[in-house]
Amino acid sequence: MDIRGSGGAPVRVVEADTGRLLGTVDAASAHTAVHTGAVHLHQGRSYLVRELDLEEAVALVEPADPPYSTVARDTTAIRVLGTDSEVKWGDARLCFGSVEVTNQVVSYLKRRLVTGEILGETKLDLPPRTLRTRAVWWCVTEEQLDAAGLLPEELPGAAHAAEHASIGLLPLFATCDRWDIGGVSVPLHPDTGLPTVFVYDGHPGGAGFAERGFQRARPWLSATLAAITACECERGCPSCIQSPKCGNGNDPLDKAGSVGLLTLLLAGAPA
Ligand SMILES: [Zn+2]
Ligand SMILES: [Zn+2]
Repeated sequence: MDIRGSGGAPVRVVEADTGRLLGTVDAASAHTAVHTGAVHLHQGRSYLVRELDLEEAVALVEPADPPYSTVARDTTAIRVLGTDSEVKWGDARLCFGSVEVTNQVVSYLKRRLVTGEILGETKLDLPPRTLRTRAVWWCVTEEQLDAAGLLPEELPGAAHAAEHASIGLLPLFATCDRWDIGGVSVPLHPDTGLPTVFVYDGHPGGAGFAERGFQRARPWLSATLAAITACECERGCPSCIQSPKCGNGNDPLDKAGSVGLLTLLLAGAPA
């Protein structure tokens, strides 16, 4: 199953008791938006998903007004299928190529309205979905991290924060919105053997956004660093390193670490 595009029929959202069709959700978003137990908003009304039936491509819902919202949690793995272009930025590397992204929605959180307090996590049994697409990625070396004084325990949060912020800034350089692109950051990626941050097109085969990011990498990542540095928050906020679509609930994130990481990456960039 593809994450987007050819990923099958749209899922119909049907009111269970009346059989009334409320609308459809594209197959790519269904696992996140209308999984069993999700609170689904439709034209200002709130519904609870009684069951997501993937075989029939239907989500049965009932009107409900629970005191919480739901947020899906997912895991994403990425595999490099081929590298088309690679440039050296000092000891760091910037690459563009083909990847396979595997995403699985694994659970959801109930979050109390107004306070945002987490009320609990419920496991989901949904199949993984794969997407073959194009990505831009960059790697730094352990030696660079040591030299910059970035500790191993800071790396996951630093890379994750840099990934989020760069996704937020890419629409300034490629005509897309942040929902068209995704990202993965890995402290040690099996295909690169290095700490790596990937940003990929959310459409099968790619849509040119990641490629544009590769071509404009220096201004793009410089703008990313500048946006994080300029933000007056202390530990990260939705204007800089937090992402509304994060499948890990914006955890871990390390604002200071992301500044260190992007600074050392850009230090090797050609002028
Ligand atoms: Zn901020
Ligand atoms: Zn994230």
